Amino acid sequence: MSGAFTGRHALVTGAGQGIGAAIARMLSAEGASVTLLGRRREPLEMVAASLTSATTIVTADVADEHQVSLAFSAARVQRGAVSILVNNAGQAESAPFRRTNSELWSRMLAVNLTGTFNCTQAALSDLLTARAGRIINIASTAGQRGYAYVSAYSAAKHGVIGLTRSLALELAPSNVTVNAICPGFTETEMLQESLANIMAKTGRTEAAARAELVKTNPQGRLVQPDEVAEAVRWLCSDAARSVTGQCISIAGGEVM
Ligand code: NAD
Repeated sequence: MSGAFTGRHALVTGAGQGIGAAIARMLSAEGASVTLLGRRREPLEMVAASLTSATTIVTADVADEHQVSLAFSAARVQRGAVSILVNNAGQAESAPFRRTNSELWSRMLAVNLTGTFNCTQAALSDLLTARAGRIINIASTAGQRGYAYVSAYSAAKHGVIGLTRSLALELAPSNVTVNAICPGFTETEMLQESLANIMAKTGRTEAAARAELVKTNPQGRLVQPDEVAEAVRWLCSDAARSVTGQCISIAGGEVM
């Protein structure tokens, strides 16, 4: 590790497990001070214990604008202005469209899309003062193509990509880049939930359910959280300063 991000303050949402935890570990190993944001303290404390740089924990539901505002204020008091924002918190509930009621629809939009909006609003003035501000939205291949039975999640992730592209243009004259990373099926707790769901609804074994998800990836494997963290590392680097408004698929060729 190079300590390339020493002196920068990175805030990662949904940092208690999975992709968010992998990103937080990478940023910390590169010397950034890291704020871990999530709804519950305990998983964040476990991740914090594995980090090597200065770490702050703040709790908030990203869908709640007021909680987000308080959490960002606390992070700023402890670690200074945020210069890297990783909007990673997300949830993926599945249902056929005819059983997608307005509550499920609203939940998916609130967490995945409005959550990204709330955190970006809360960080923007900080990012504009940074030497190299970075907004990295963890979207999904579900923001680039459709999948049956996750219309609300997919609509929200398409929205995240629209927000990414528009804000990138708006901020292009500044020092802030805005990009989305679009993982395919990735080996995390969220994936375990998807497997459990498929098994419950179809009676398949775990191996058969897993094979069904693996099949979507032309490389025939699941993405690992560290692969997503590596893309974040590059987007945060000076080498990527001309890269903005992009959706980077990490999905073995599933989306072209
Ligand atoms: P995960 O469920 O393992 O972790 C998500 C984290 O976000 C958890 O710590 C959870 O508590 C937190 N979170 C959820 N709702 C929140 C809220 N309202 N406020 C604050 N924190 C909240 O999921 P993951 O697989 O690590 O997913 C991370 C991101 O990557 C998500 O945005 C997800 O949509 C996206 N993604 C995941 C996959 C996959 O296959 N795992 C594929 C594509 C995209």
